[in-house]
Parts: sequence; C-alpha cells; structure tokens
Amino acid sequence: MYNKLTVEDVDVKGKKVLVRCDFNMQLDADGNITDENRIVGALPTIKYLMDNGAKVILCSHMGKPKGEPKPELSLAPVAKSLTEKLGKTVVFAADDNVVGDNAKAAVAAMNDGDVVLLENTRYRKEETKNEEAFSKELASLADLFVNDAFGTAHRAHCSNVGVSSILKPAAAGYLIEKEINFLGNAVNTPVRPLVAILGGSKVSSKISVIENLLKKVDKLIIGGGMAYTFMAAQGKTTGTSLLEPDYIDYAKKMLDEAGDKLVLPVDTVITEKFDNDAPSKVVEGAIPEGWMGLDIGPKSIELFKGVLADAKTVVWNGPMGVFEMPNFAKGTNEIAAMLAELDATTIIGGGDSGAAVNQAGLGDKMSHISTGGGASMEFLEGKELPGIAALTDK
Ligand code: AMP
Repeated sequence: MYNKLTVEDVDVKGKKVLVRCDFNMQLDADGNITDENRIVGALPTIKYLMDNGAKVILCSHMGKPKGEPKPELSLAPVAKSLTEKLGKTVVFAADDNVVGDNAKAAVAAMNDGDVVLLENTRYRKEETKNEEAFSKELASLADLFVNDAFGTAHRAHCSNVGVSSILKPAAAGYLIEKEINFLGNAVNTPVRPLVAILGGSKVSSKISVIENLLKKVDKLIIGGGMAYTFMAAQGKTTGTSLLEPDYIDYAKKMLDEAGDKLVLPVDTVITEKFDNDAPSKVVEGAIPEGWMGLDIGPKSIELFKGVLADAKTVVWNGPMGVFEMPNFAKGTNEIAAMLAELDATTIIGGGDSGAAVNQAGLGDKMSHISTGGGASMEFLEGKELPGIAALTDK
C-alpha cells in the first residue's frame, strides 16, 4: 500500500504494540453492541500480532463523550466481545483517564500474545485536539504503533496522529491497508470502465467528491435528493423536493463541463407527503407543484443499470432515495442488487450506502464495504488522510 510501512514490515516479537482500532460501536438501550462488523474488521491485525508474539494494547474512541468519562460509552462491552471472538481473555483497563493505574499495571503484567484494551480515548479532552500530553501518555505504554482505524483516519487526534509522531515505527494494520488498496486502486488505477454512483441528500456536501470523481470516472450517476438541484439546473420544476437553490448555478456548470459523463434520473417516484404510506406515482421529467421526489423511477433504474452493465469498477456513495422508508427503497435496492450480480470490483463507501446494502442482505456480494463513511468520502475527494499520512514511510 503506497509507501507506508504495514504491520508485516515491522518486528513485533516481544514488543508492546499500541494498536488504534475503530471500535466506534452503536449500543442499544441495554448496552449491547448492535453491529459487530467493526470488531470483526479489527480481528486480522489483532490475531497477526498475537500469533507473532506481540503484547497487544488496543485503544479506540466510541461515540462522543466530549472529554469526560461517560459510563454508557465505556469500551467494556468491546472487551467482552473481543474475548469471545479471540478465545482469549482481553484485559480491560477501566481507567477514566485512559492511561491510569489499571492500564499501567495491566501492561506491566503482559506476556507475549496477551491483549489489553484501554478505555474510550475520548474520555480525555486532549484526544480530539491532538494535544501532545495525552499522545505522550499513550505512547509511554508501548514500543511501537499500528493504526488500523480507517473510520477516524480523516481526523488528526492523539490516538492516531499524535502517537504516530512519537512511537516509531508507526505502521498500518490490515484493515487500513485493505481500505486504501480498494479505494486507492479504484480511483487511481481502476480497471475501466469506472462508474461512480453518488446519491444522498445534498449536492453541497458532495461537491468536492463530484469534482474529483468527474476527473477520474467514465460515468458518474447521480441519484437521491441531490439529483433535484441538477434537475432544476436543467430548467425543470422540482415541486417540494429537496433543493439547494444556491447550488443550481454550480450544477449548471457541472452539466456543461461533464456532458454525457453525468447520468441523471429521467423519472421520479413522487408523493405529496414525506410519509412511507402516502400515495405515490411516477412522473417523467418535471415534478409538479406540491409533490416531492423520494426515489428514482423505473426508467431511471433501467437507465442506470444499462450504464452499470459493462462497468469493471464501481464506487457507490449515497442512497438513490429515502431508502429508510420501504416504499421508497426500490431504487436503492435495485442498484444494490445489480451491483451484487456484476462481474466488477464493487466498492461501497460506507455510511448510508453500506447500511442499505446490508439491509438488502447483499453485503457479502460486494468486493468491499468501507468501514469509514467520512474517511472514504475524504479519500474520494482526493484529500490526504492525516491518520495515514502520519505513518512511517517504507
Ligand atoms: P447523505 O448523508 O447526504 O448521504 O444522505 C443520506 C440521506 O439522504 C438518507 O437518509 C436518505 O433518506 C436521504 N435521501 C435520499 N434521497 C432523498 C430524497 N429524494 N429526498 C429526501 N431525502 C433523500
């Protein structure tokens, strides 16, 4: 993966290795983890380090405790889940200050192959400001650093960027390596045709992605709420659909510059109320007064499928409609089903599109579902991710 050291490039035997994971889990009201994908994603790196005789010290944030201990955001449930999945006790160091007496004692007692998990790094207010004092405390526990948290790679915090500047070498784990390989190859050295699908609510939040991808793709399909600003730019009425009037000129410019590279919906499922059970109908072209578009229509689905049919690489970010409502999920589900069948590398950019694909039960049919919604977006924007930039060069 580019020029960064990976976990296999460093000698870990007998070393204390601090590993930044992405254990940013959703918990239900009873404190149970609702989706363990991120824990499963972290296992290859942890197992590799255990099997190669490292003393493995794991850390992560979860949620937004805003710099103070919040028992409901403790990583204790993660230690329990890891213990089950690894078949070995993961010692949880329950320190409100993260690097406290429990952590120090647990690390001092480690044998090769043991695993310790620290408390939520965002219990410390320094974490999100990347303040040196906390980075030093974290670094003091270990001999070297491995970053495997792609989900926070677009942030410069103590537990990824700060420690990387103190603990050397700082290497990438398997999950980060996989993310960078999939996303990097897709946008920089894709097998063509490369088709990107962008959806979701707003043009404004995806401008940089649109601009960067237009330079790289063979076709860019736009669906979801953001399509209506483009529709308005074509001079069509959009009724009460999502619309960003300030971006209509931008959309016009994009349409002029991109020509037939940009593929927009030709019909829309419309309704008078933002309600799953409200009566709906399909219109081609303009959306009448008082009606709002909540999904792409059947002709758009066929149009998009036609564009995708001979794609060899597909990158998808953002649903085609309000997929949370079953009656407006058809466009999103049909595109997911098409990608599942396609003989191509299919990359789902995390967040809502990842949720939609999993909701349709098609997660394992995709080449890669990113574990980082925000990080994968910034990657597709062409930005350098600070968590990766800070790692040691080969
Ligand atoms: P984003 O976070 O920008 O990727 O947007 C995801 C959200 O866009 C989802 O919650 C969808 O419900 C929403 N969305 C997609 N299409 C539409 C639409 N036509 N009208 C309103 N919201 C939409």
